[in-house]
Amino acid sequence: MLDSGIGSWPARRARMTPGARAFVQDDAVVTYAEVDRLVEAVAHGLRARGVAAGDRVAFLGLNSIELAVTLFATARLGAVFLPLNTRLAPPELAWILTDAEPALLIHAGDFDEAVSSEAVAALGLPGHRFTPAGGRGLDGLVSTSSTSGGGDVEVGLDDVFMIQYTSGTSGRPKGVMLTHGNIAWNAFNLLVDVDVRSDEIALVTAPLFHTAALNQVLLPTFLKGGTSLIAARFDPAAAIATIERERVTLLFGVTSMYQALAQEPTWATADLDSLRSALSGGAPIPRTLLDTWQSRGLHIIQGYGLTEASPGTTMLRAGDGLDKLGSAGTPCFFTDVRVVAPGNQEAAPGQAGEVHVSGPNVTPGYWHNEAATEAAFDGPWLRTGDVAMLDDDGFLYVVDRVKDMYISGGENVYPAEVEQAVYTHPGVAEAAVIGVPDERWGEVGRAVVVRRPDSALTRDDLLKHLDGRLARYKIPKTVVFVDEIPHNASGKLLKSRVRELYGAPEGTTP
Ligand code: ATP
Repeated sequence: MLDSGIGSWPARRARMTPGARAFVQDDAVVTYAEVDRLVEAVAHGLRARGVAAGDRVAFLGLNSIELAVTLFATARLGAVFLPLNTRLAPPELAWILTDAEPALLIHAGDFDEAVSSEAVAALGLPGHRFTPAGGRGLDGLVSTSSTSGGGDVEVGLDDVFMIQYTSGTSGRPKGVMLTHGNIAWNAFNLLVDVDVRSDEIALVTAPLFHTAALNQVLLPTFLKGGTSLIAARFDPAAAIATIERERVTLLFGVTSMYQALAQEPTWATADLDSLRSALSGGAPIPRTLLDTWQSRGLHIIQGYGLTEASPGTTMLRAGDGLDKLGSAGTPCFFTDVRVVAPGNQEAAPGQAGEVHVSGPNVTPGYWHNEAATEAAFDGPWLRTGDVAMLDDDGFLYVVDRVKDMYISGGENVYPAEVEQAVYTHPGVAEAAVIGVPDERWGEVGRAVVVRRPDSALTRDDLLKHLDGRLARYKIPKTVVFVDEIPHNASGKLLKSRVRELYGAPEGTTP
C-alpha cells in the first residue's frame, strides 16, 4: 500500500496514466511511468548515501527534470527537500546550509564554483555532482550506491516535505517548513481555483527553487497528470515561441517576466490564445501591465501569496470581472484570510490592516526558529506582514508590506501605491519608491526609475504627472534615474537593496 505523502504521487500517476508525458525539457520527454522508475532509483541511491527520514537534501541547480526527480525521491524517503536559490553568493548559500544542516548537497555542474568556494567547502558537506540530462543526470547517484540500507518508511501528511527559504527581500531568508499536507492542500486549492486539468500544458520557466513555479505550476500539473515543459531559465523570446508551438495552457510569471514578455517584438503577433491561466504573484503588479495584457485579450490572474502559505492565499479568477482588475481576488478555496486593523480589530471594508491567513496550506513554523514561529502566529492565524484592504465584496487589495511603509509628515505612505501612479507615465519601464530620511518631514519619498529606451523623461515631467494623481505628501521629492533596479532570482524587486543603494538622506547625493 502506498502512503499518502507526495513521494507516492509518481507511483499513483504511473498506475493511472503511465504513458502520459510528465516532463519535457529540450529533447527529453519523460512519461509518468519513467518518472516513477527514476524516482525509485534515486530514492534507493539517496538511501545508500545514508539519507534517512527527516534528513535534509539540498539541491543547487537550474530548473531541470532532475530537480523534480530529487524532490519526489526525497519525499519518498520521508526526507526533506531543500531547494537552494541559484543566484545566491557563496556566503549566503553557506548561511542557509549551516542553518539547515543537510545530509547531502546535490549540485549541477554549472555550480561547481559556488560549491567549491571557501564558504561552502568549509562546511565539509557530503555532496553529489550531476550534469542535467533530461532526468537521467542522477544515474551516477544510483550506480554509486551499493546497499539500500533502511527499509520503507511510511510518510504522513504532517511530516515535513520541504524547507523553503523565503526570498529574503526584507532581511535574512527564513526556513519555512512545509509539510506534505501543506503542499497537497495548496495543490487542491489550485485544482479548484484555476481548474487545473489533465490536458494541462504548463510552462515552468520561473525558478523552481522558489515557491510559485514549484507549488503553483509543476506540482498541481503533476497531480492532474498534465505535462510540465521545463525551461532551465526564463528567456522571453523562447517562452513566447514555446507557448505558440506547444499550445501552453498554464504559465506562472512575476511582474518583471510579464513585462519582458510584453516587450518582445513577437508578443504582438504570436498566437497566445491557448493560455488559459497566466498566473502572477509574489509582488505588486502594475495596473498598466494588466491593461497591456488585457488589450491582447489575455487575462493575467493575479494571486497573492507567501512561502509560508505554500504559497496560495488569494486569487483573482478569470470570471471575477474586469472591474476587479488590480485586486488580488478572494481567498483560495480551503484558505481563510482576515484583515486586522490597528487595535487588533477586524478591519472594515476599505480600511487598511495586516493580512492574516489560516488554512491547511499554512506552515507549522520556521526551521530552528521557535521565536520567529511564535511571533508569526496569532492562534491559527499567520501574520503576513502585508498591508491590504478588503472591498465590500470581499476582494483583497494588497497595499504594501508593513516594513516598506514610511511616514512623511505624520502620514503613512505605502510605496506600492506611489509606484502604481509612477507607472502610469508612459516613459517609465520600472519603478521602486522608498522612504528616505528628511529633516523637515521625517521621511520623504524617492522614486528610483528606469526609463523606457525611447523616453527622455525628467524629474520635473514625472512630478508634474503625479500632481493631482496623488496627495501631495505621497509625491516623491526626488527621482533617481538608473539603468537597472536590483531584483532577486525570482525576479522580485529587492527593496532592501534599493534602500541600500539609493536610500541616502534627502539633501545628500544618493
Ligand atoms: P522575506 O520574507 O524573506 O522578505 P519574501 O517576503 O519576498 O521574503 P516570499 O514568500 O517569496 O518571501 O514572498 C511573499 C511576499 O510577496 C508577500 O508577503 C507579499 O509581501 C509579496 N506579495 C505576494 N503576492 C503579492 C501581490 N499579489 N501583491 C503584492 N505583494 C505580493
